[in-house]
Amino acid sequence: MLDIIADMHCHTIASSHAFSTVLENIQAAKKRGLKLIAITDHGPALSDSPHPYYFFNLRVLPRQIDGVYLLKGIEANIIDYDGNVDIPEDFKDNFEWVIASMHVPVLEPGTRDDHTRAWLGVCKNKYIDVIGHSGTEIFKCDYECVIKAFKANNKIVEINSSSFKIRDGAVTNCREIARLCKKYEVPIIIDSDCHFALNIGQVEDALKMLSEIEFPEKLIINTNFEKLVKNIKQIRGRDILK
Ligand SMILES: [Zn+2]
Ligand SMILES: [Zn+2]
Repeated sequence: MLDIIADMHCHTIASSHAFSTVLENIQAAKKRGLKLIAITDHGPALSDSPHPYYFFNLRVLPRQIDGVYLLKGIEANIIDYDGNVDIPEDFKDNFEWVIASMHVPVLEPGTRDDHTRAWLGVCKNKYIDVIGHSGTEIFKCDYECVIKAFKANNKIVEINSSSFKIRDGAVTNCREIARLCKKYEVPIIIDSDCHFALNIGQVEDALKMLSEIEFPEKLIINTNFEKLVKNIKQIRGRDILK
């Protein structure tokens, strides 16, 4: 049975609607057998975002805690249909993992074309690594068009397991997105988007869907530690083992 070795989309109490600390997340990850987590609290445009100093101070966290590697990231908000995001300007270069997502009320749902245009704009941003929960029903877009653009711009597509539970319509949309990633050979990452430590690494719904469509493991970047390290090196130019 396929499983993940890293959960690259985790929230901490620094986002005020999440309930666990970095250490609690690390302990839960270790118990779950994960080798790496990325902490990705919300960017400043969302009202529950951490104070700006938080992002600046991510540097005090070590690379590894209790045998689990840690990447210091952000879940940036897409703030308009041009695909601009709210990565704090002063700390842009400090992030080690950047997800870009659409969230209400930062972005109000528009037309299918609006959402498509926003994702195409995101593609041009070199600071963004991952396309976050793009299967959200209220932000439906031209999946065929955007998936091709993600591929052309080396963006990783997230299959967000929380979406299956909390985002209406996401099951069908995520399946369609995964099917297109398979067709166009776009790398994906499977994340929990956990807001509580005990949910870390819980991606069974996503794994089940991927297995149903016979998604090739070679395109999933977080099922093998060496493969993940290699991918992070290629994407971010950073060897996390050093
Ligand atoms: Zn999100
Ligand atoms: Zn999130």
